[in-house]
Order: sequence, then structure tokens, then C-alpha cells
Amino acid sequence: MISRIDLRGTASGVDRDLLPRAELDVEAALEKVRPICEDVHHRGTAALIDYAERFDGVRIDRVRVAPEEITGALQRLDPAVRAALEESIRRARIVHREQRRTDRTVQVVPGGTVTERWVPVERVGLYVPGGNAVYPSSVVMNVVPAQEAGVASLAVSSPPQKDFGGLPHPTILAACALLGVDEVYAAGGAQAIAMFAYGTDECRPAQLVTGPGNIWVAAAKRLLKGRIGIDAEAGPTEIAILADDTADAAHVAADLISQAEHDVLAAAVLVTPSEALAEAVETELKTQVAATRHQERITEALAGRQSGIVLVDDLDQGLAVVDAYAAEHLEIQTENAAAVAARVRNAGAVFVGPYAPVSLGDYCAGSNHVLPTGGCACHSSGLSVQSFLRGIHVVDYTRDALAEVTHHVVTLAEAEDLPAHGAALKARFGWKVPK
Ligand code: NAD
Repeated sequence: MISRIDLRGTASGVDRDLLPRAELDVEAALEKVRPICEDVHHRGTAALIDYAERFDGVRIDRVRVAPEEITGALQRLDPAVRAALEESIRRARIVHREQRRTDRTVQVVPGGTVTERWVPVERVGLYVPGGNAVYPSSVVMNVVPAQEAGVASLAVSSPPQKDFGGLPHPTILAACALLGVDEVYAAGGAQAIAMFAYGTDECRPAQLVTGPGNIWVAAAKRLLKGRIGIDAEAGPTEIAILADDTADAAHVAADLISQAEHDVLAAAVLVTPSEALAEAVETELKTQVAATRHQERITEALAGRQSGIVLVDDLDQGLAVVDAYAAEHLEIQTENAAAVAARVRNAGAVFVGPYAPVSLGDYCAGSNHVLPTGGCACHSSGLSVQSFLRGIHVVDYTRDALAEVTHHVVTLAEAEDLPAHGAALKARFGWKVPK
């Protein structure tokens, strides 16, 4: 069901190529999504309607969702789901409200200041997945930080559902209504990202698109980056668990399965120095997978090249492995888990000890679940209020403060063979360098 990789005895350094990884990666998906994005660029709504039919199996006549569909979905929402969504929103707000950076002015020299002003992106497109599963939780994770950042214009897009007349899933619409979002589109995959990048007759282009999605969504974000800003590539889910003998094999297996449930390309990786735990987890996987609803998808994800059990000599090597892998989600289920977690350098989010499973973070920890995948966690962060802000440096110098530094600017300009740069300062002082 799940392969084993034995790295014991290879302590010096960790070669990323030895670790589990997906057969189909974002780079390989790029060529598939390029014509889709170009088509949306040229044909707009007509192309979105055609792709809805081709990929989502439903013919729609408009992509923008009518406001009464959004409010109606909230009225029909199951009260228990509403209460859970409200709690998820409440916790996410507690965390994200604290993330907003305040403008800061630094006095560099008397009369010379640099202020960093944080300004929200004016318009953002928020992608909410809805292929194998539907993700109202991703409405929360996208919208809350965008709102806390002060973004003025928010639009959500999610795949049309053939069982719901080509609208996004009603729980997604209800989550939008709960959060006060009234601009929603029924578009999925790469075509939705292209809609936000280029705009259509129905949808104004956005400056930034954020949100998780499958490999096609992640590839479109990589392709269109520059044309539109993106958050990190938040593609098919990954869970890595660093565990030792103290971990409960049933919990470890359940957590691996919980993330394999997302996608056949989802990655579930256990890194452990304990052969006994590896064996117990393998046994647990067999029994637990057989009892799950999405058995086929999970079995394919666990058997894929992206998943595996990695045996290491000790926790030090285990930490080197998880850092090299840079998982989206990393659980630490070891003795002194907090101390081990504090040594982790690369992960989208770290879950410490036996009572912080990834599923908690998916919905109700307060943390954000839109996290970098495919190794991007070594250079990128998960979605936060900061993702929706730009820092603008505001430079303010008096005449005296400029005079004091002019000779250095002129020297550096000459060193770069850009004398007009120096001249721009000398012009202010009678074409001389002030003493
Ligand atoms: P999705 O909305 O991401 O993708 C569905 C869309 O994919 C469809 O609307 C269709 O347009 C497109 N598509 C399907 N097959 C295609 C093909 N062959 N070629 C081109 N386009 C195609 O929904 P999903 O498929 O359920 O995937 C959700 C993904 O989001 C999962 O991989 C899950 O792991 C991931 N996820 C990631 C995070 C994160 O933060 N990294 C968080 C939540 C979910």
C-alpha cells in the first residue's frame, strides 16, 4: 500500500531526489494549462462556459453567480454547518487580526526618514477548490486574511457543480454570504485563474489571486505569475509526520489518511527512526483505509510515488529529511515534540504533539490552511494578512540631510558609470558637491 525508503546509514546530507515525490508535478502540468489560459484571454466568458462543460460536466449560461443564489444558500444552510463555519471564522479572525503590520517610520539621520507603509492590494481573486471535494473552509481561509488586510474588492471563484445546476457548491455560496462576499463566479481550475488574470466581460481583472487547488490550479498560478500576483503555489496537499516510538500508530495512520483523502496526487509521508512504528502504521493503514469513504482515492494517493515511509537513523537525520522535503504540513509526534518542532526550518505549518492533527488546522485551529506545496515551503509562506499587503517605502529628506550624503551618492554613481544619477543631486546644490 505504501512504499518504504530506507535512508539509514546515509547520514551525511539528504538528497531531495531520494525522497518521495509526485509523478505529475507543476512543471509538467504547465504545457497543459497554457492553451486553456490563452483561450480564456481571447474568448473570455465563452471559453469559461466551454471548460465548465468539458471539465466539470455541466453547461452553464453565465459564470457570475446571481446575488440571490448567494443569500439563498445561507438561508438554506444546515444550522450545524453554519455554527461550525462561524467558529472557524471566529478563530481565523483571532489569529489573522494580529498579523496586520503597522506603518513604521525610521529616522536614518536627522532630517532623513524612511517610512514603510502597508497598503492593501485593491482587488483580489480568491480561488476555492471544488473538484473531488468542496472546500467552504477555503472560503474562510482566503476571505478572512483579505478582509483583515483591508482589501476593497474581493471576488471568489469555485468550480460549477453539475448536481447544483452549474453553481458553485451551496455551502461555498453560504460561506461567502456569511463573510459578506457578494461577487462569486462558477469557474474552476486553470480557467478560473486566467479569468482573474485577464478579466472577462463579467469579471474585472484582479491584481492578485490566492487560494489552494489541484495541480492545474497550481500550474496556472505559476504560468500567469507576473501578469497577476499570486500567493504561494498551494497545490495537492502534503503531510509529513516525524514520529518516534512514543507516537500512537493509529493516530499517525489516521492523519496520513486524512490528507491522502484530498487527491490522488496528495502526498503522505512518515519519517521515523522506529521500524516498529513503521510496521504498526502499515498495519493500521490497511485496516483504516478499508473503512474510509474515499478508499479508492486514498489508496491511489498512498501507493503513489509521492507517498512513503522513510526510515532514518535518528531524529537528527529525521529533521534533515523533513527540512529537505519542506512539507506543506508537518506533524511532530515525538518525545519533547515542542523542542523538536522548534528545530524545523522548512514547513508550511507545523503541528506539535498528539493533539494538534492537521485536520484541526484544516478547519478550526485559527491558523491558515492555504499553504505552500511541492517543496515551496523552503522559500514561501502560507496565506496571511501580509499576502494581501504591499510595503511602500516613503523617503523624506531635508536639504541638509541630502547635502550631507551627496558626495557618497555621486561616488557610487560614478562607480556604476551612471554620472547622471550624481548630477541629479548636484543640480540641487548649484551643480556642485556640497562640502
Ligand atoms: P479544484 O477546484 O482544485 O480543481 C477542479 C478543477 O480542475 C475543475 O474545475 C477543472 O476545471 C480542473 N481540471 C480537472 N481535471 C483537469 C484536467 N485533466 N486538465 C485541466 N484541468 C482539469 O478541486 P480538486 O480537484 O478537488 O482539488 C483540490 C486540491 O486542493 C487538492 O489537490 C487538495 O489537496 C488541494 N488543497 C490544497 C491546499 C493547500 O493549501 N495546499 C488546501 C486545500 C486543498
